[in-house]
Amino acid sequence: MKKLLIITVCLLLALTICLATVACGEIKTQTPNQTENNTNDGTADKTQNNTSPSTQAIPTGLAGAVKNVSVDTANRRLLATVAADMESLALSQLQFSSPDVSYTVYTDITLTQTASDVIPLVEGANVFYLQIDNDGENILYTAIITREAAPAHVHVYGEWTTTEPATCQKTGTREKRCECGDTITETIEKLPHTEALDAAVSATCTETGLTEGKHCSVCGEVLVARPRP
Ligand SMILES: [Zn+2]
Ligand SMILES: [Zn+2]
Repeated sequence: MKKLLIITVCLLLALTICLATVACGEIKTQTPNQTENNTNDGTADKTQNNTSPSTQAIPTGLAGAVKNVSVDTANRRLLATVAADMESLALSQLQFSSPDVSYTVYTDITLTQTASDVIPLVEGANVFYLQIDNDGENILYTAIITREAAPAHVHVYGEWTTTEPATCQKTGTREKRCECGDTITETIEKLPHTEALDAAVSATCTETGLTEGKHCSVCGEVLVARPRP
């Protein structure tokens, strides 16, 4: 009886160890396998998705004075920046992976308004839509062209121009102008009188004389009166 009991206990122990090993082994092998499978599946799917657009006609950029061009094929976006003074973009500047690609440019997301050959660019983001015909399949790209903000204007004024000349009687004005139309106006001081000497007149037996005086030869203003003594 004792022998039988020991054998039974030993067998049970052995079975438990076996089961534990198998269970542990399963967990250990399953976990990486599952992860690997998932990774493989995900990568494979993504690779397949990524390979299909590469065979398609895609926009690759914009020619000319366009900066920071980037093409996001996954989200089908074309991003670019243009200088502040670039007021329009010609459709001939669009570049594609296939030279003979046929495409239509729309100015609205509902694809009802076809863009003209030259798209006017406003300051900030300009969004338009490229519908590319890829062997009968339509591929839609969103193009976002950002026109940089114009630098702040700094006035540059020209020479002074007299708008009203000063005289010895009144002040005048002058102004200088920036090409933007802004002006600075300044007052011109009165001119000095032009002194003319009035000689003294000696008294006669009929007329009283005059002391020496001064007047302005331009405006006639008496500068030094000569009252009769
Ligand atoms: Zn100015
Ligand atoms: Zn005067």
